[in-house]
Amino acid sequence: MIEHWIGGERVGSAETFTDISPIDGRVLTEVARGGATEASQAVEAAKKAFPAWARTSKVERAEILHAIADGVEKRLEELAITETEDNGALLRSHRRGVMPRVAHNFRFFADWLVQLEHKDFDTRGHTNHVSWDPAGPCALITPWNAPLMLATWKIAPALAAGNTVVLKPAEWSPRTASILADITAEAGLPDGVFNVVQGYGAEVGGPLVAHPDVRRISFTGSVPTAQRIAAAAAANLTPLSLELGGKSPLLIFTDADLDLAVDLAVEQYDNAGQVCLAATRILVQQEIADEFTARFVAKASALRQGDPRDEATDIGPNVHEHQLAKIDGYVKRALAQGARAVIGGGPNEDLGGLYYRPTLLTDVAQDSEIVQDEVFGPVLTLQTFTTEGEAVALANDTKYGLAATLATGSKERADRVSKQLVAGTVWVNCFFVRDLQAPFGGSRQSGIGREGGNWSFDFYCDLKNTVTAP
Ligand code: NAD
Repeated sequence: MIEHWIGGERVGSAETFTDISPIDGRVLTEVARGGATEASQAVEAAKKAFPAWARTSKVERAEILHAIADGVEKRLEELAITETEDNGALLRSHRRGVMPRVAHNFRFFADWLVQLEHKDFDTRGHTNHVSWDPAGPCALITPWNAPLMLATWKIAPALAAGNTVVLKPAEWSPRTASILADITAEAGLPDGVFNVVQGYGAEVGGPLVAHPDVRRISFTGSVPTAQRIAAAAAANLTPLSLELGGKSPLLIFTDADLDLAVDLAVEQYDNAGQVCLAATRILVQQEIADEFTARFVAKASALRQGDPRDEATDIGPNVHEHQLAKIDGYVKRALAQGARAVIGGGPNEDLGGLYYRPTLLTDVAQDSEIVQDEVFGPVLTLQTFTTEGEAVALANDTKYGLAATLATGSKERADRVSKQLVAGTVWVNCFFVRDLQAPFGGSRQSGIGREGGNWSFDFYCDLKNTVTAP
């Protein structure tokens, strides 16, 4: 049974829900189904723990964050397997990429905190001193596609800043947050500084973000949920950071290294396409479209789909039957509107369950839903363009602005095009290179605000300027 973690104690709820593995439909555990009562208890615990935690020195906080990172590294294999069972993402990625990154999230923000300072400056002999003051209890709401990585990307800076935290993990991937609670306790984090409430979004997440004692809300998830959370935040004027969906383009020009371009395109099937940053719209220059498509098909067809616990597997299942139905609905409607599936186009009947074939659709209209909406599955579209101007226009023509990737051999073109793209991150001849000191976030409906490095501390703190007379 997975329970809440409130004030340093396991707390149950009268009702539970069942956590089912997307790998094979196996029942993993029952989970406490929290509501307004548990949300309120957790905020109370966070509020009570806040003054003492906010008074600790930067060095004390940094030491505890490093101890949490040590704990994550010690239990890395357990975390990796648990998360794979919960959300179906590849075990090899959890072992070698995701969980080491979880530990790094804590180490990075611990070290960043220690060197965080603004140079004092003078105004007519008066000294200005800028400080990042802790803000109070933070409500952190996260999705299931990279549960612990996305949660700790918020938890680490929030704790480093001297805040206390209530985390609401996604109901489809509740278990690693519960292990993290144990790790924080073993690392010496005082009771109530980190709390976890489990349950459905509207039932426990809704009351949490509406709580008047919450001083910051950081949310990663979908646009419709963000709209509800922003409305709740408006009532209390709670500052919020929103990291939302995307429909990012991959622009491939005639001067690109075509092998690299193909690798970049196939990489978009990672995590069965359940990656917010995924460049799901391939835009390729007309002259090289046939050659690109042939090489893409050869490479993508060689991907091995199967059990994500197998090290040889490239693509696992999607997370939930609702997600699979949503993906298949998008593809079926696109095919009915005249799209052509170059590869894939439906569930993997050989495997059954929640496995969807990696799919590439062509003959899609720019204003169709398959081009405009986030599908969040292993589904890419391919469109062609003739001029650079047309490529930029197509790239920017969605409601999103999270990321964009370019494949080009020309530095001048890369500079010119990246300046014109509406995106929080632009990758040139690469993908998914993420440094925690860089600003991260999206434009338009991909989000509000940026986190990372100083931007995280700007968000999680109340900035203060103290002016002292000579
Ligand atoms: P979702 O919005 O359905 O749920 C996200 C979280 O919000 C869950 O924990 C859910 O329980 C909670 N929630 C739901 N309703 C709520 C409410 N009324 N009040 C408070 N909390 C509530 O999103 P999802 O389907 O879990 O995640 C997929 C989405 O997340 C995609 O759109 C994806 O692009 C996005 N995402 C964005 C980033 C990014 O960094 N920009 C990263 C990963 C995922």
